[in-house]
Amino acid sequence: MNKIDSLKIVLEFYKELGFERLPLNYSSQQSAVSNQGVKRAEPFERITTVGGSGRSRSSNSHKEALLKAIRDEIGDCQRCKLSMGRTHIVFGEGNANAKIMFIGEGPGREEDLQARPFVGDAGQLLTRLIERMGFKREDVYIANIVKCRPPMNRDPQDDEISTCFPFLDKQIDIISPEVIVSLGKISAYTLMGVKGPISKFSITKVRGRFYEYKGIPVMPTFHPAYLLRNPKDKWLTWEDAQAVLKKLSK
Ligand code: URA
Repeated sequence: MNKIDSLKIVLEFYKELGFERLPLNYSSQQSAVSNQGVKRAEPFERITTVGGSGRSRSSNSHKEALLKAIRDEIGDCQRCKLSMGRTHIVFGEGNANAKIMFIGEGPGREEDLQARPFVGDAGQLLTRLIERMGFKREDVYIANIVKCRPPMNRDPQDDEISTCFPFLDKQIDIISPEVIVSLGKISAYTLMGVKGPISKFSITKVRGRFYEYKGIPVMPTFHPAYLLRNPKDKWLTWEDAQAVLKKLSK
């Protein structure tokens, strides 16, 4: 295959993923954003996969390149008001080919400072859970519903979620995990596509059973920060983790 044919295949794959342009010219993208004020990312369709498992057959390095393209597309994001108070964007991290994705709510103080998800106290508990499940942190992928820290760690608001979520949606599409573990109320509410006021939504009622996000099983469970305050509920999250392990391919 010559270079032009290989390039064509790569570009067609990007197109399948919903990219309408390649984020090659970073500075012109930034001016487009600032000229137009708030600019929303486009949600896109799920990758069509062969074999029905829902997991993409692309290689790790290819997925890493696609994730990097999304990070470049986000740039120095000013699309919502959370950008005003953040130190760093917390994109997400881990294995681009992970079988499990853990999705929290939004960065806290430590995460905002270090630009990494779940590195504070709640993160240490999450890391212990991942290790008890038989994985290393680097084996899984960890991200959040919003990528910038809400002021005073308040819940992210609807407009912030709807502005930021399309990027997570793209990350999920690329990684194509076998299972998503959603951590806490905001994450479960968003991934389950619940309509109606979040004040009526209870993580206690939904946890422990699988739901789906675009065909991927989603296990809602308690947020690690909640578990730090309510350690007696850790065993419920451990039950949820065991159900997740059973769901994974061997
Ligand atoms: N809480 C979250 O929901 N996400 C993080 O990354 C850290 C704390």
